[in-house]
Amino acid sequence: MGRIIGLTGGIASGKSTASKILMELGAFAIDADIISRRIVELGTPTLKEIKKTFGDEYFNSVGELNRRKLGNYVFQNKEALEKLNEITHPAILKEIEREIIKNKKTSPKGVIILDAALLIEMGLHSLVQEVWLVTTTREQQLSRLIDRDKLTFEAAEDRILSQMSQEEKRPYADRIIDNSGTYQELREQIFALWREITEI
Ligand code: ATP
Repeated sequence: MGRIIGLTGGIASGKSTASKILMELGAFAIDADIISRRIVELGTPTLKEIKKTFGDEYFNSVGELNRRKLGNYVFQNKEALEKLNEITHPAILKEIEREIIKNKKTSPKGVIILDAALLIEMGLHSLVQEVWLVTTTREQQLSRLIDRDKLTFEAAEDRILSQMSQEEKRPYADRIIDNSGTYQELREQIFALWREITEI
């Protein structure tokens, strides 16, 4: 029997790192972040809709979306963010559903991982059978985010605070992956979870 698992957690909690380990073990992974970029590629209906709504100023000379500029704008304007979400979320959902159907039968171990920071916020947890939440301490999350994205302390904190908190996500989680330890400790937890789900 196949199984679809939603992997979520705060920014820089370790979702991609966990997802890579799961892929090594034989899971097929769908990355919601890659999908959210794909649906705004040149020529897509979503891109046209964004241009109609937000105007040319968020596009470069060849018609590509300046995600950073639009991101900065909607980050400070709640209504604009809601409008952008109204345009992009249905397209993201449709594409994820398509990927799940396409890969469900061919995934070697029958396990599909949906790696999505906004799994709960976007209601994507309705597409999966289990939610796995990657957790860290706030200090570790901050320092890993600052190291990885070369952010200032304030900018990193802003990003963390703009998201739904780890505590708010906990009630949705079927399993917790505690990534406050070493990479090796993360691997061991994932190996144990993998044995559980593939040996039943
Ligand atoms: P995002 O939400 O931005 O997509 P993410 O949740 O996928 O982030 P990762 O990119 O996997 O997070 O991890 C964030 C950073 O922390 C990376 O640089 C990664 O290498 C590092 N990292 C993850 N887990 C550990 C660990 N256990 N020990 C040390 N570094 C770690």
